[in-house]
Amino acid sequence: MFRSLHMKLTLILLLLISSLMAVVGAFLTTSVSSFYIDTFYQQIDSVFSPEREDIVSSLRQAAAAGGVDLMGDMMDANAGSLGIDYHTRNYFILDGKNGSYLTGSAEESDLPREQSANLLSARNAVLRRDETFVADESSIASNYMDVAIPIIGGDNAYIIYILDTKDTVSGLNDQLFSIIMQALFIGLLISVLLSFLLSKTMVGPIEKLTAGAERVAAGNFESELPIESDDEIGILTGTFNEMAGVLQSTLAAVENERNKLDTLFLHMTDGVVAFDNSGNLIHCNPAASSMLQREVSGTYGDLFGDRFPFEAVMAIQRPNFLEDDLIAGEKHLELYLAPFSDASSGGVLAVLHDVTEHHRNEERRKEFVANVSHELRTPLTNVRSYAETLRSAGGDIPPDMANNFLDIIITETDRMTNIVQDLLTLSRLDAGNAEMVLSRFSFADAISSVVRSSALNAKQRSHTLACEMEADLPLIVGDRNRLEQVMMNIVGNAIKYTPDGGDIQVTAGALADSVWMEVRDNGIGIPEKDRERIFERFYRVDKARSRESGGTGLGLSIAREIVQRHHGTLALADHEGPGTTIRLTLPIAQPHSTQ
Ligand code: ADP
Repeated sequence: MFRSLHMKLTLILLLLISSLMAVVGAFLTTSVSSFYIDTFYQQIDSVFSPEREDIVSSLRQAAAAGGVDLMGDMMDANAGSLGIDYHTRNYFILDGKNGSYLTGSAEESDLPREQSANLLSARNAVLRRDETFVADESSIASNYMDVAIPIIGGDNAYIIYILDTKDTVSGLNDQLFSIIMQALFIGLLISVLLSFLLSKTMVGPIEKLTAGAERVAAGNFESELPIESDDEIGILTGTFNEMAGVLQSTLAAVENERNKLDTLFLHMTDGVVAFDNSGNLIHCNPAASSMLQREVSGTYGDLFGDRFPFEAVMAIQRPNFLEDDLIAGEKHLELYLAPFSDASSGGVLAVLHDVTEHHRNEERRKEFVANVSHELRTPLTNVRSYAETLRSAGGDIPPDMANNFLDIIITETDRMTNIVQDLLTLSRLDAGNAEMVLSRFSFADAISSVVRSSALNAKQRSHTLACEMEADLPLIVGDRNRLEQVMMNIVGNAIKYTPDGGDIQVTAGALADSVWMEVRDNGIGIPEKDRERIFERFYRVDKARSRESGGTGLGLSIAREIVQRHHGTLALADHEGPGTTIRLTLPIAQPHSTQ
């Protein structure tokens, strides 16, 4: 309850008014009492001081004559100066020796029962016959004030005793107290009202500011707080509005940055996985999930704990990082680990780089180099060994055999030339600088020409080579020479890989925007496991047979490259029975071609 500023204000005001009133009250009552006492003694002094010897000596004369009544009359005459009001302040004329009551402005019963210290002192003075003594030792705390003056005249001795009951000052103080209490009550009322007023002018704006701060904390920057005054609260409200504005633009900038990063993470090809400083997963982009080939979850320990301990990564000084290779399924990945920010608010960032293709290319390159070396070494070894035999034999070798040897040397040299020629073609195709000479030509004519050229070859192997084409095959755009080379290769393979007396059928047709050609043989066929691999460089199902028939293992790879450059396809087709069927598909028109 006392936590609210309003209550605190009220309480402070109440305390302030109460303590002020208490101080004023104490000061006033003390002042009034002191003033009253001082006035009493001044009045006594004004009558009985040595300067006023006339009154004292008159009293002494009356005393010497035993005129107690005269003394009483004289006192009555000076009652005004002495402040004797016959009510609260009275005078008494007492016997100097025994202190008994003789006369006075009040009855004997108004005398205090106990003789006061002043009275006793005055009686002692009478005994000493000290005429000048005035007993006026009054305590401010006692509930009366008195003065005892010995009057010695001849043998007679009296004491004039003036007694004030302090009732007047007590009454005055009571009145003062009641005024102060009333003032206090009104003061308290005013302070409560003031506190309401103050709270309206002070607490109101603070409450508005608090509500505004709560809105900003909840992310609502829409409404600006109105500045209602020029005082500190007005300045505070202005500063708060400014701060909210800066906060809003900072948040917008941060949000923008985050969106940028999110988009970057979402679309980047590298995988990014982030962990907090306890190793818990906080972010993982789709690329990382697909590289690791699973839904990424858990902690750093689960994912990369077997590579490097988390603490070791956190201890790295930027810009250093840790690096390792990772194999996930068939993927080869490079893993980079580095800490981000400081230890208390940062964590670890893991970046995954997919090097599968690079790895595969590297493997292919090695395999290719090994294949090329091997393919060239075999004919070279043959050439060398026959040449050496011819040289070492000299003229001893029969001419037939020597001719035979020379034929082999020429054949092997041709083989090497073929290989080198094929490699050159492939490398041109790879480099993209094998220019395609495009022209519009008849697909049917090209096939007929290839079949005609292969007829002799087929005949030598006793194959039947039949060609059946749909009528009115369209003209197509392409590099006729190269496409005929592809067709020659396919028909040649059918002739090569079919035992003598085989059956080879060439069929062709057209679809909406493409043409196709199929070459079907009833030869040795291609085992299932090798079906896709025959288009790889140097891949041969039966190396010995291929070499025997002068194959390099590059024919189909070159053919596929050429067909792909024409945006067509070259693939094995499924078919019933033994043998092989290869299907070539080509688009009728080439994109970007004006032919
Ligand atoms: P090659 O110069 O050895 O003929 P290709 O690239 O033309 O090389 O063919 C690759 C391999 O595919 C051949 O070695 C062969 O084993 C296989 N092949 C191609 N065509 C046929 C076919 N019609 N019948 C059986 N096997 C074939």
